[in-house]
Amino acid sequence: MKYEEMKPHEINRVLDNCPLAYLVWGSHEWHGVHNAVGLDTLKAYHMTLDLCRETGGVVLPPVYCGYQTMKPWARCRHTFEFSKELVIQFVYEHLENLYEEGFKAMVVIMGHYGSRHVEAVKAGVARFTEKHRYPKVLAMTDYEPASWVDVKGGDHAGKNETSLLMYYRPELVDLSRLPDGELDQDREGCTPNAKEATVEHGAMLARLFVEQAAPRVRELLAEALRGWPKEVSSG
Ligand SMILES: [Zn+2]
Repeated sequence: MKYEEMKPHEINRVLDNCPLAYLVWGSHEWHGVHNAVGLDTLKAYHMTLDLCRETGGVVLPPVYCGYQTMKPWARCRHTFEFSKELVIQFVYEHLENLYEEGFKAMVVIMGHYGSRHVEAVKAGVARFTEKHRYPKVLAMTDYEPASWVDVKGGDHAGKNETSLLMYYRPELVDLSRLPDGELDQDREGCTPNAKEATVEHGAMLARLFVEQAAPRVRELLAEALRGWPKEVSSG
C-alpha cells in the first residue's frame, strides 16, 4: 500500500487489479504550541492510508509543500512557504509520472488547505487534465467528504485538526502546553477551540472521511476503467 515500500511485482499486481494512486499534499506549518508542525500532512496521510485499506491502490509518500501558509499570512515560525508555481508544477509532474506508470485513477488529498493553496493544487490537476482526458483525477481537502453529510471539519490546529492528530499520533499532541484561559487566534496561531479536542472526536472525523470518500473514489476508478480509450494502453 505504501508505494515507496513496494517491490516491482507488488506494484504490478496493484496495477493489474486496482490501478488507483493516492497523493497526499501537506506542509510544514505552525499549528499552535500544542501540535507537531507536520500536522496537516500527518493526519491527511493516516486518513488516506485508512481510505486505501478500503479501496485498494497505493499511497505515495506525502509531499510537504505548502503555499499560502501561516508564514506570509501571520509570520509564524517553524513554517516552510513554497511558491504557487512550484506547487502547480509539482502536482502536475506527479500526475504525469503516475500516468506514465500505468495508474488509471489518481486522488489528491490535501491536508493543508488555505484557499489559495487549494487553488494551486487544483491548477496542477487542471494542467494535467487539459492534456489527458484519462486517467481520472480527483482533488479534495481531507475535510470535504465529511461536509457531504453536513459535518464541518477543517480548521487550523483547532478542535478538528488537533483531534485528528490525537487520534492517529497521540504522542505528537500536548494540550497542556496551551496557556490558561481563552485562546486567541492571532496570539496562539490556532483556532481558539483547540482545548475541546478529543481522541473520540478525531475518531469520528476519521471514520466519516473513509465512509464518505470510499464510494466516491471507487466510482472514479470505475469511470476510468469503463471509459479508458482502447488506443491508449499506457503512457
Ligand atoms: Zn492544518
